[in-house]
Amino acid sequence: MQKRIFIAYTGGTIGMRRTPQGYVPESGLDRLLAQMISPDLAEDMPDYVLHECSHLIDSANLHPRDWYRIADLIASHYHDYDGFVVLHGTDTMAYTASGLSFALPGLTKPVIVTGSQIPLREMRNDARNNLLTALLLAAKDPIPEVCLYFNGRLMRGNRATKLKGEALDAFDSPNYPLLAKVGINIEINRPAILDRTGAEVFQILQPADGQVAVLKVFPGLSAKLLAKVLEPPLRGLILESYGIGAVPIESPGFLATLATATEHGVTIVAISQCIESRVDLRKYAVGTALARTGVLGGFDLTTEAAYAKLNHLLSLNIPTEEVGGNMQRSWCGEFSVPDEPFGRARSLY
Ligand code: ASP
Repeated sequence: MQKRIFIAYTGGTIGMRRTPQGYVPESGLDRLLAQMISPDLAEDMPDYVLHECSHLIDSANLHPRDWYRIADLIASHYHDYDGFVVLHGTDTMAYTASGLSFALPGLTKPVIVTGSQIPLREMRNDARNNLLTALLLAAKDPIPEVCLYFNGRLMRGNRATKLKGEALDAFDSPNYPLLAKVGINIEINRPAILDRTGAEVFQILQPADGQVAVLKVFPGLSAKLLAKVLEPPLRGLILESYGIGAVPIESPGFLATLATATEHGVTIVAISQCIESRVDLRKYAVGTALARTGVLGGFDLTTEAAYAKLNHLLSLNIPTEEVGGNMQRSWCGEFSVPDEPFGRARSLY
């Protein structure tokens, strides 16, 4: 039977139009897509419905609330379709793919987030390939994950990151293997795909404003600035540390400021500034000192996944210890367990 795919068009370059002010989101992507599918192609195409969001955005304007709007859209059509494609701007695509993975744990159907660097309206573009391949992947045998597809690479959504602003191979998955490579053939990397056991869970939440921040450690970062960032209403901080979890412990007041914040219930998670790395707070004295302040190690989480997960956990309004415990428990393969770096991740749901 022909598979049915639900496409949610949220905005982004893929559907943009050129104006004197630069590219702007534009409606009417359904017409463009229909024109693109010639009768010869139609035979291979899954049945699809394209839903255009009422407010199309440049994804620079995305708020965590939007993850849950998209998740809600997917949840409310979940039982009528075999797979989902989310068309999105590239700038915050990895945040949304991460956010969706935590909002929709236990998925048994593919959700594939994609977009392009050049609009579908331009004569030469990467939009056509990304869109049609995402559609085919969503209709292929069920990949039970939120994925990000771009330029021949199918990635776990919460492992992907945008590395290039002006190239077609904009995304990569630096700390986890690709779920599929798409060239002449589509090669699915089965062992890398999540092993699902539990039932679908839809956690559509209301994230509050200004509760989570991301701060990159840099030479000269003062305790004063750190304390400012940690002021209420902040409840969570992703600290992008050096290397495998190093921070300037000799900077006066630095560690004390972190310790005071964690004592007051702020969850602080250290991840690495390096694209390919994993935090290990046991190896250096600067790391063990950081761990003693109550800061948690974030393994090989990307910034996007760490931010989305902490936002999600804090929006659940669970006790601080549970936020910390869940931050260090993989929900859907967002980080690798140290002893089995590329072991097949099992979904917690
Ligand atoms: N600024 C655009 C967006 O994120 C960039 C893109 O889609 O490639 O919506």
